[in-house]
Amino acid sequence: MRTLHFFKQAFLVVFIVGFTHFSFAQGKDLPNVVILATGGTIAGTAEGADQAGYTAGQLGVTTMIESVPGIQELANLKGEQISNVGSQDMSIDIWLTLADRINTLLASNEVDGIVITHGTDTQEETAYFLNLVVKSDKPVVTTGAMRPATAISAEGPLNLYNAVAVAASPKSIGKGVMVVMNDQIHSAHDATKISTTAVQSFMSPVEGQIGGVIYGNIEYYRSPYSIHTTKSEFSVEGVMELPRVDIMYAYADMPADFIAYSIKAGAKGIVIAGVGNGNMNAATLEAVKKATGQGIVVVRSTRLPSGDVLRNAEVNDDEYGTVVSDELNPAKARVLLMLTLLKERNIEEIQEIFFNY
Ligand code: GLU
Repeated sequence: MRTLHFFKQAFLVVFIVGFTHFSFAQGKDLPNVVILATGGTIAGTAEGADQAGYTAGQLGVTTMIESVPGIQELANLKGEQISNVGSQDMSIDIWLTLADRINTLLASNEVDGIVITHGTDTQEETAYFLNLVVKSDKPVVTTGAMRPATAISAEGPLNLYNAVAVAASPKSIGKGVMVVMNDQIHSAHDATKISTTAVQSFMSPVEGQIGGVIYGNIEYYRSPYSIHTTKSEFSVEGVMELPRVDIMYAYADMPADFIAYSIKAGAKGIVIAGVGNGNMNAATLEAVKKATGQGIVVVRSTRLPSGDVLRNAEVNDDEYGTVVSDELNPAKARVLLMLTLLKERNIEEIQEIFFNY
């Protein structure tokens, strides 16, 4: 019991003291990687090691770095605390702060790569947003954990180790923003969370993962297909807010009045998480037609986990003035639409953007 108590105490000392800053103190001949911490389960703590109930976003970035054996042999590390929230509370404000900070850091010759620690719930949205607005070929990697830092077999330390390895590797240059979780490397465009609790919580259902990383050893299988980072036309430089885009989940006998409410509340775009191939019932389709007639951009995505939404399949997009999301799930389609709406564009141009990004 005494030994257990000692380990518990040591564990808590290592985990609970947090700092907001960590300089490239080692100065070894290694790549320089900055870890931007935003919170999430990887920084979450519970009362006991076997408890399902816990609070996300409790540990500081330095504490997380110090808890990973061998990580300092991969890169010179510097940590910054951007936020400390469960990612259900991730916001456009934090996205804009992150994008700005990453673009500033990567413009410096001293920084070779970035790791963002993040809750898993909205990690794919943040990663995809950054994939569109980061202006650098240098590696940017998001990671997180399904188990809180105090849990039995917490996987956060290995995920962080692998994420740093990926961010520090020249092999990762030009691959856009990546999600590294559970030994897998996913493109931000493709990754999605598929399990509420499993350690194997991310997959790329349409295109597959782009690589793997085992204890820091990286193998890429392919490059992402969609446009990202330096080739992306989107920029949030000087942008303080994004246009409101709402998501509507379709289901049997869905009422159509949400559309009018959303427009009244200020939405400039609407994404339908459609049934099947981006479908919705006749009443909703009529409301959509009215909305597009008023200049609201409506994108048809799907509530299904996999498959493209096809143009002019069961819904005649030409007639309804709608855009299809192609491979993007509703949350990512919303991100792309918010950025698209920063500039005036016609429907054909917007559709082209959804096919290319
Ligand atoms: N809801 C929390 C979050 O997204 C927990 C999920 C996690 O990080 O794994 O931050």
